Amino acid sequence: MKGICILGSTGSIGQSTLDVIGRHPDRFKVIALTANLSVERLYEQSVRFKPEKVVLVDEAAAEELRKRLVSVGLGDIAVLQGAEALSEVAGLDSVDQVMAAIVGAAGLMPTLAAVRAGKRILLANKEALVMSGQLFMGEVEKNGAELLPIDSEHNALFQCMPDGYRVGRQRNGVRSLMLTASGGPFRDYPLDLFSTITPEQACAHPKWVMGRKISVDSATMMNKGLELIEASWLFDIPVDQIKVVIHPQSIIHSLVDYIDGTMLAQMGNPDMRIPIAHAMAWPERVDSGVKPLDLFEVKSLEFEKADDERFPCLRLAMEAMKRGGNGSVVLNAANEVAVETFLSGGIRFTEISSVIEEVMGLAPFCEVESIEQVLNSDVGAREIAQEVIRSIN
Ligand code: NDP
Repeated sequence: MKGICILGSTGSIGQSTLDVIGRHPDRFKVIALTANLSVERLYEQSVRFKPEKVVLVDEAAAEELRKRLVSVGLGDIAVLQGAEALSEVAGLDSVDQVMAAIVGAAGLMPTLAAVRAGKRILLANKEALVMSGQLFMGEVEKNGAELLPIDSEHNALFQCMPDGYRVGRQRNGVRSLMLTASGGPFRDYPLDLFSTITPEQACAHPKWVMGRKISVDSATMMNKGLELIEASWLFDIPVDQIKVVIHPQSIIHSLVDYIDGTMLAQMGNPDMRIPIAHAMAWPERVDSGVKPLDLFEVKSLEFEKADDERFPCLRLAMEAMKRGGNGSVVLNAANEVAVETFLSGGIRFTEISSVIEEVMGLAPFCEVESIEQVLNSDVGAREIAQEVIRSIN
């Protein structure tokens, strides 16, 4: 029986994780669940899975949840509050695996706490790795944590590596990695209409059901840019050896290209329960609840090059990674601020990339040798992003 903590249980990945756990009560036990504000959903999850502890970052929300659990006789579930409690539950002795599924930079410290406690980390929160790359991978090695990728592309790459491969190590014989991308909702959309794209249009992904931030990232293709950086750290390979391939059917989730001409791909229906079940049960296999792929229904698979003019965020992510130091921290912070502002109607879709580019030009470069430097760079870049946005409006 494996004890699980889900950081971000009320989100899209968190709910899919609970769906997989619900199919295997003999294998997995929920120890802790966390959210930011979502009282109702966390209450329902607590009633069904009866964790030992739950966390809500927001104090008033935590108080409300506490009262509701007491009223149905579940007062023995400890309700914690505040951001520090996220790290506390990630490191509990009874936790074997931590699903890192908080969105954005807020996931960094609790995910690191799980790494430092030597847990198996099921990594969905790519922003944590983008921000702290080398430091994060160093902590994984130092603390004997086990890192398994949840992002469907990185999980696919991991599955295409030979038996015994450990995330973080170089793999001899690999010529390049190929990250597939659906191209999002605007792959064929007229370029002259890009500035009129609304948050609702941007969040309507043709293949995947996801949280709002990652849906916008997919529409700008910043998501693929962040994934390039993530893959470079996870598989210890330079970004130049990672290629992006547009594959509209989203059936092949990524490929490893070996020097002998072999190319290995992982295929499946686009449903996050596949990588989640894979990583939770690894090295065994369990039912994920996803229907098997019907190749006769799929019929054909197409591949295209990514268009730089349409998706400038991809180029910006490459630049940030090549710049090194705090480059990716600045990129990530500027993107989070720009996407949030776009979602609340404050800037246009096309301004997301221009804000990021301007912030990358203005933020001072520094090396990052500690998590404190990462966090300081993050705060600084967010302030610059706010100023840039004020100058637009
Ligand atoms: P959602 O927006 O659906 O969920 C985010 C979760 O994080 C919620 O539980 C939310 O709680 C919690 N949260 C938000 N802000 C904070 C905060 N400041 N402190 C603590 N908790 C917080 O996101 P997704 O599930 O879509 O994505 C989660 C992560 O997984 C992202 O990093 C994303 O890039 C990655 N990912 C997602 C995929 C997907 O298919 N969705 C695919 C691959 C990677 P509350 O409900 O209270 O707001």
